[in-house]
Amino acid sequence: MFWSVNFPSIPVLKPVDNILDVGIIGGGITGLSTAYYLEDTNLKLALFDKGSIGQGVTSKTTAKITYLQGDIYQKLGSRAKEYYLSQKQAISELLRIIEKEHISCDLEQVSSIIFTLDDGNVSKIKREKELLDSFSAHPFDVFDASIKAGIGVSDTYIFHPLKYLSGLSRLLFSNVMFYENTLVQNIKRENDYYLLQTTLGDFKVRNVVIACHYPFFLYPNFFPLKTYIQREYVNVANVKKHEAYSAINIDSCLHSIRYYKDYLIYGSNRHKLTSKIDYGKSYEKSRDDFKKYFHSSPEYTWMNQDIVSHDLLPFIGEVSPHLFLGTAYRGWGITNGTLAGKILSDLILHKRSEFSSLFSPCRMSVSLFANSFLGTFHYMKVYAEALWKKNNPTYIRINGVIYAIYKDKEHNIHKIRLLCPHMKCNLVFNSFDETWDCPCHGSRFDLDGKLIEGPAKEDLKTSI
Ligand SMILES: Cc1cc2nc3c(=O)[nH]c(=O)nc-3n(C[C@H](O)[C@H](O)[C@H](O)COP(=O)(O)OP(=O)(O)OC[C@H]3O[C@@H](n4cnc5c(N)ncnc54)[C@H](O)[C@@H]3O)c2cc1C
Repeated sequence: MFWSVNFPSIPVLKPVDNILDVGIIGGGITGLSTAYYLEDTNLKLALFDKGSIGQGVTSKTTAKITYLQGDIYQKLGSRAKEYYLSQKQAISELLRIIEKEHISCDLEQVSSIIFTLDDGNVSKIKREKELLDSFSAHPFDVFDASIKAGIGVSDTYIFHPLKYLSGLSRLLFSNVMFYENTLVQNIKRENDYYLLQTTLGDFKVRNVVIACHYPFFLYPNFFPLKTYIQREYVNVANVKKHEAYSAINIDSCLHSIRYYKDYLIYGSNRHKLTSKIDYGKSYEKSRDDFKKYFHSSPEYTWMNQDIVSHDLLPFIGEVSPHLFLGTAYRGWGITNGTLAGKILSDLILHKRSEFSSLFSPCRMSVSLFANSFLGTFHYMKVYAEALWKKNNPTYIRINGVIYAIYKDKEHNIHKIRLLCPHMKCNLVFNSFDETWDCPCHGSRFDLDGKLIEGPAKEDLKTSI
């Protein structure tokens, strides 16, 4: 793992009988930020993580702290200015917390750049600049022979995401009960509290914060329909130089760059989970691209996935009484996860919260749903093609149910039922990691169907 840091060791706690004021599910940037904002209240707080804190998506991010997020402002139309202000506020909050709490996390002010390699997108860069100008953001032009157009801003940052989370968690020990290795399996409404059913036992909680990345407890709110999963591949090598900028292009083929010390961190080959069937090829291509553009071999390669709403705005707020959610950050969760902490804590404390209506998780719109149907159609087409082409894995249909049989490098045979237990999507084979991945919502299973990563909560069936 490239980002690594020693988290403080957390004592193993026993479940409590009395009712907790707030139960936070998930110890990434969203969960820890929410706990931070509530920490100096008199509320009884607990945070649950199915693994160790800080080891989810936040541990595999590129950790740019910026409001220059591709060509988002022209895409957001009338909501652009408010989103811009929200990101500026999130950056101020991060800086304030780091300074006030003396968190040593390699924070560095660097320019953020957006650019295009495509003549057809030059006008979009210009439009983004006009919008930023109108928000008084002072963007500047970037000239470089290798790009068609680019703009930058200078009041943006990068940091070490796990040093930040580790610093936050140290502050919280005295007032927050941490339950690591505790999977929350279900949330049930009972009288005036929620019952969190976990692998450690049941907890009664007045307010629940769902900060577990994929909001899998929330079927009635149509989240699977309102969102899709976006996967990206990250390669890193020591290139023995450091540049004080981060950059991302706005074209369909992603190139994202930042430096950490003398390491270059390069994100590429982003795709919707539903649009690919062989993730191994994307891994290989991302490594080849790194060699091609930077003339060195990557020392670290990983993939990471984030959730995107079809209207491009995060879901942050109250879903039903005393049930709160922060997710769908579209690859910009360092700012939005921090903001979620602020908004959710304000709502729990019945305070006014500035951006709560912009990010309301209960919003419904035509754009949220129309795109979802297009995505489903595309997935079915890609999937049908794969079933025809592949012979390892081999797919067989028995009594209407599809099974996959895979022969590994040692010629061992693995057999699974091809249905994700979460929402019954057909799984796809990831030949690089040798895993079964759910293209709809991102659950992952090993060759024998054992659950690696949710939203699914159980292993695959294997018997025929
Ligand atoms: C490749 C890539 C690069 C990115 N780069 C940037 C960037 O440069 N800047 C930026 O702002 N954002 C970036 N992002 C986005 C950002 O990293 C994420 O949006 C953010 O880290 C999500 O944080 P989180 O707290 O919501 O989720 P996580 O960090 O995943 O935390 C969720 C936690 O919940 C736990 N959990 C899950 N289910 C359960 C359960 N049932 N019970 C108990 N615990 C559970 C998990 O173990 C995990 O620890 C990037 C994303 C990707 C994919």
